[in-house]
Amino acid sequence: MLTNESVRIPILCAKLFTGSKSMTPNPLKHASWVRNVLSLTAVVCLALLLDRADASEAKLPNIVLIFADDLGYGDLGCFGSKTIRTPHLDRLAEQGRKFTNFMVASPVCTPSRAALLTACYPKRVGMHQHVLFPTSTKGLNPTEHTIADHLKTQGYATACIGKWHLGHHPEVLPTAQGFDTYFGIPYSNDMNYPDNKAKPQGGAGGMDALWTDPESALTKWKTPLFENEKIVELPVDQRTVTRRYTQKAIDFVKANRDRPFFVYLPHSMPHIPLYVPDDVRDPDPKRAYINTIEHIDTEIGRLLQTLDETGVSENTFVIFTSDNGPWLPFKHHGGSAGPLRDGKGTTFEGGQRVPCLIRGPGIPPGTVCDALTGTIDVLPTIAAIIGSPLPSDRKIDGMDVSTLWMGTDTRSPREEFVYYTAQGEVEGIRQGDWKLLVKKPAPPNQQAKQTPNSDKKSQDPQILLFDLSKDLGEQSNQWKSQPEIVNRLRARLEEIDAEITQNARAPWVKP
Ligand code: MG
Repeated sequence: MLTNESVRIPILCAKLFTGSKSMTPNPLKHASWVRNVLSLTAVVCLALLLDRADASEAKLPNIVLIFADDLGYGDLGCFGSKTIRTPHLDRLAEQGRKFTNFMVASPVCTPSRAALLTACYPKRVGMHQHVLFPTSTKGLNPTEHTIADHLKTQGYATACIGKWHLGHHPEVLPTAQGFDTYFGIPYSNDMNYPDNKAKPQGGAGGMDALWTDPESALTKWKTPLFENEKIVELPVDQRTVTRRYTQKAIDFVKANRDRPFFVYLPHSMPHIPLYVPDDVRDPDPKRAYINTIEHIDTEIGRLLQTLDETGVSENTFVIFTSDNGPWLPFKHHGGSAGPLRDGKGTTFEGGQRVPCLIRGPGIPPGTVCDALTGTIDVLPTIAAIIGSPLPSDRKIDGMDVSTLWMGTDTRSPREEFVYYTAQGEVEGIRQGDWKLLVKKPAPPNQQAKQTPNSDKKSQDPQILLFDLSKDLGEQSNQWKSQPEIVNRLRARLEEIDAEITQNARAPWVKP
């Protein structure tokens, strides 16, 4: 079991050794005083550390980052699901902290992943325009500084196990982005090597047929499985892939238990098509999604047990979240956004607010954080916690929110958040509890698809203003009664997007 006091000491010591601005008085006036205090503190910390039988507490904390695919805000027991049982993730919530206001920077896979790994809005790193396909010729630029790059410079062993989706060419695969090893699929599990053709029929009905025929994992799909830069299985057997990812992660933890490690585990599911191993399969296609999440939960339980058994749990941050909201058109093959509006592919909260659980040294167990933060803040927060500054040669959008992680402050350093569409168009901003969406009209050939509550079917954008503190489900448009807020937020939205556009960096493009 994690105890708050036992895990807080190494973090505090690390902060004292590396120096914290708030703890350093005028250096000229108080130099000797500071030296004396630091020396005494160092001795006390060292004594406390040496007093502990588990030497692992003295090393940098491990990071296990689990990223589900298309799992909705309402799909975990600890986030209110009444139909899906997730005892292992619920236990993670009891031992750690639940974040109810946690955002991803895009409502679709590729840009969301770019943001998580680089702490940037996807447009800043040129990865904002929808998802990559097997025919794509671009990827995340290896010159970007990923979480893996950062931890590798600090001596971490790093592994990416699961769905990458930031470019399938060798120049941009995980092994070119700070990861020592990679095992997983390079793009979505509904994409076929090499040209994305010959795919089975989609929709919930198509998914029912696939679920009823588990062999379809091999006969209907052709998604490759990579080991480092090579395809090792084609098609990947999707029935066992969740379990095999987990086993790889378990083996990696065991092999690296004596040094700091970073496991990035982006599960390829519950993105459709859904498959589970034969020995846990519920034949009812109406229960496919439930079955898949419960299997992922079981597998996460195995990994958490390994952390316990290897004695590294108390010095490991486990972060669980999702890349975007649920894919609602797939009905019982997609998830639920709970109380939120809409899902994957939209800038409503259901598309971009995701469940997040974080357990680790210094994090108060069984607590809830309702303050605004998200995946773009993960890298700066980890960097702050391990006391290693990020490079200063580039602008990022993420912020150090370690005070939120540690529960020492209820107010987020993040006061605003910008929403981009799946195609990478700026569409909204959040400031405090106010959220503004400026939805441009659909192109003429898509006018019929315009949302029914458009204020007028013209070339004017649809303005939506919601007070999320009173209207989490984004049902009550306040724009007419709050013109000043609309104007202020709209100006700020354009200002932020203009800065990002001007300073955007290029993605990698195949020569
Ligand atoms: Mg996704």
